[in-house]
Amino acid sequence: MSTDGHDGGARAGTLDLPREELEELGRAFTRLALEHLSGPEALPVFPDTSAERLAGLFGGGLPAEGAGLEALARACAEVFRQSRQNGHPRMFGYVASPATPVGAWASLAAAALNSNVTSWRSAPGPTEVERTAVRWLAELIGFGGEGLNETCGGLLTSGGSMANLNALFVAHRTHARDASRRGLWGEGAPATLYASDQVHLSIPKAADILGLGREQVRVVPSDGGFRLDVRALRERVEADRRNGLRPFCVVASAGTVSTGAVDALDEVAGVAREHSLWFHVDGAYGALAASAGSKRALFKGIEEADSVSLDPHKWLYTPLGCGCLLFREAERARVAFAGTEEGYIKVFEREEAEAFAFWDYGTELSRPFRALKVWATLLYYGARRVSAAIEEDCATAAYMAERVRASEDFELLAPVTLGICCFRYVPADARRGLEDEETREGTNARLDDLNERVMHRVQRGGEAYVSNALLRGRFALRASITNYRTTRRDIDFTLEVIRRAARELEG
Ligand SMILES: *Cc1c(COP(=O)(O)O)cnc(C)c1O
Repeated sequence: MSTDGHDGGARAGTLDLPREELEELGRAFTRLALEHLSGPEALPVFPDTSAERLAGLFGGGLPAEGAGLEALARACAEVFRQSRQNGHPRMFGYVASPATPVGAWASLAAAALNSNVTSWRSAPGPTEVERTAVRWLAELIGFGGEGLNETCGGLLTSGGSMANLNALFVAHRTHARDASRRGLWGEGAPATLYASDQVHLSIPKAADILGLGREQVRVVPSDGGFRLDVRALRERVEADRRNGLRPFCVVASAGTVSTGAVDALDEVAGVAREHSLWFHVDGAYGALAASAGSKRALFKGIEEADSVSLDPHKWLYTPLGCGCLLFREAERARVAFAGTEEGYIKVFEREEAEAFAFWDYGTELSRPFRALKVWATLLYYGARRVSAAIEEDCATAAYMAERVRASEDFELLAPVTLGICCFRYVPADARRGLEDEETREGTNARLDDLNERVMHRVQRGGEAYVSNALLRGRFALRASITNYRTTRRDIDFTLEVIRRAARELEG
């Protein structure tokens, strides 16, 4: 006994809870999660709410004393009600996926364990699980195979944007190093990278963060199917090279975020080879669709990429945030992040698994155990069942396109390649207006305005949620399906909701 009466085995300031309270708390949160997982359509897709209302509900002051379990459970249930329901079968906006039950429970367990997955020494089990999850993801999308499995590696990131940023950093470092070694890279010669006009905004943003400047991202036009025009790419690279610039990287989209178009990866790989460019594939939206049998051929050439980004929190339906960056030669990432030539020396040593550290391959030091939700999802469902879900998402988007094409008052605005359908509402008189050269421009402007108002009305209505894309300057309603709950009936119902909103606005 110490002088203040404690035996040294307990402390007054603990945040531990007695077993009974722990279980009660667990039941409260389990109930909340279960209700959501078993029927997210019980709530409107988008809450009928306002910023003012939310400030009133959740904007209170710092509580000095705890509110207790009942008040907490009530408050959390209210947060759920005041949220957009990403798991709702008619949530078609952006790229929003439901969380699989397995992924959700795995996230809870990983949070409780609270591993810091910096390295093998910090988290031996979780590190091996992450390395396995990364390998499985690579295999799922057909990245790896002959000879590649030896050198291929990568890591999980918070999302696709971080994966892209890390990829461009490694690309730039690798080429700067190679060029300076060969005495090629003159002082101040701008390093340029290439991508289509459909590329995701995280690419110019990454270039900006890396200090390359957004103007160093050379925007290459896309073709009628919104795919990178490979001939224009080649011409642009050659012209820049003649003008003393230093092309170092080409980014192909394996599923653009606007329409889901997949660039001709094998042809882009050809240009990258000819000009010694780093070939990065941004597959944040679409790469996982390569696991669907009917889509595999679209991704031919992905195995030639130097790096690939993909998002398990999109098309593996894991809870946010989980991206993944794969390197064809992980060693190049290690050299880039090491910042010295020393990295090369290590190649010749026997890589010791127990010396492995994720900080050698990306920007983060402290890292959550993201891999558990990926690993658990694949372990529980198996690759076949996950791929079948993706396949059905794609088929559902194709069905939507079919319904749009068959309708008098809808117009399809882009080919449906994967799970995204872009279209607009076109009433009969506007249809006539589009046929005539003289009235076409005015009619298009009117349709842009009408469809934008339709989108807002549908979003606020809470029955379905679509977002938009700007396609060659035209406003398109955009429905994205990465949701294993969405059925054809949801598609029919949503088109009816849109039609009704449009007629109300017109009438
Ligand atoms: C979503 C997306 C990104 C960004 O990924 P986050 O996970 O949102 O950071 C990048 N590229 C494409 C093509 C995307 O669809």
